[in-house]
Amino acid sequence: MTRLNGEDEVAELCRDLIRIDSTNAGDNTGPGERAAAEYVAGRLAEVGLEPLILESDSRRANVVVRVEGTDPSREALLLHGHLDVVPFDAADWTVHPLSGEVADGCVWGRGAVDMKNMDAMILAVVRQRLSEGRRPPRDVVLAFTADEEAGGRYGAHWLAAEHKDLFDGCTEAIGEVGGFSVTLDGARRLYLIEAAEKGIAWMRLTATGRAGHGSMLNAENAVTELAEAVGRVGRHEWPVRLTRTVETFLTETSRALGLEFDPDDPEATVAKLGPLARMIGATLRNTANPTMLEAGYKANVIPQTATAYVDGRFLPGYEEEFLQTLDELLGPNVTREFIYHDVAMETGFDGSLARAVTEALLAEDPGALAVPYTLSGGTDLKAFSVLGLRGFGFAPLRLPADLDFSGMFHGVDERVPVDSLRFGVRVLDRFLDGC
Ligand SMILES: [Zn+2]
Repeated sequence: MTRLNGEDEVAELCRDLIRIDSTNAGDNTGPGERAAAEYVAGRLAEVGLEPLILESDSRRANVVVRVEGTDPSREALLLHGHLDVVPFDAADWTVHPLSGEVADGCVWGRGAVDMKNMDAMILAVVRQRLSEGRRPPRDVVLAFTADEEAGGRYGAHWLAAEHKDLFDGCTEAIGEVGGFSVTLDGARRLYLIEAAEKGIAWMRLTATGRAGHGSMLNAENAVTELAEAVGRVGRHEWPVRLTRTVETFLTETSRALGLEFDPDDPEATVAKLGPLARMIGATLRNTANPTMLEAGYKANVIPQTATAYVDGRFLPGYEEEFLQTLDELLGPNVTREFIYHDVAMETGFDGSLARAVTEALLAEDPGALAVPYTLSGGTDLKAFSVLGLRGFGFAPLRLPADLDFSGMFHGVDERVPVDSLRFGVRVLDRFLDGC
């Protein structure tokens, strides 16, 4: 087999993936992930693997394959990346989002940040290792999933429910969102490792009252009842709840920045974090934001029911408190039901997996400081955690100081530096040997 160089081909793999349209509007229309899955499976087959393409629905394709390790007695590691991307409005972009153009030292396009960059890095490192006959110490299961951007019903959740056996022996997982650097000064960079995720509770609220003529007295108006409840939810000031991962993040980051960290007032520290404040601030408390309203059909008719939608996010360990508070705010006349509900999770940044992450980063960047953080959103890891896996968001990228990377997730002009991709391949290669 010809030897392949992962660093040399990673940008091309990323560009190829960006050029394959796999946008996911969330309603099971659109191109699906089939073409991207075939591309990935083809690149894996070239180095002797026999990947499965698993369709959960027409064109909703996932790829899974196991790379055998040298020590079969060890538990397996899952490396996972999603193949879908969120939609875009091309008019807003400097280059076409499906161009995969390489300019100014970066690969540009939808997915360059979330997460065809990591898909390409996984492909590059596995292809290089197998072409050189270097198997990883432990079995590594690769999963390239559909539908992450809409909650994983056709992807990770479906795989975990219908194809559990493919993940036999897997105890740990590596995926998004983390591993990218935030520059502290010329010599030091924070690498944010995702070690916890908030849970998701999207809810429909319904108020039921008495329908009637808009000119009459009506003390049971569903619109009034709902509007008051929505107002209470939206205005509620959720208390700060300092979870283990957030406390570790703030302690270590404060120390690195020479700031004082007062656990009784974490907001004061978060406020000093610059561009990270938005991302970290959302992990200090539960949140519930009203997002949609629906009621009525004519100005002089009081409708029988009124509905609203709320995007709720709860911290690991605080789901019960979240739902209890919400019920108090809604009152007796408004009911709630989940339209989407997924778990919160938290795993300590400890053990051999954390050590392998830290050592691989330090070997390639002596100024690296790996710190665990909590993601305010969700990833496929939620679905795999149901199978009993623990894991981190770790897609390693050393980034230039002035690149607002976290701002480019789902954003305009997504781009990733080629040098950062090359760095990621080297780090992942070391990580596979060390984990
Ligand atoms: Zn993603």
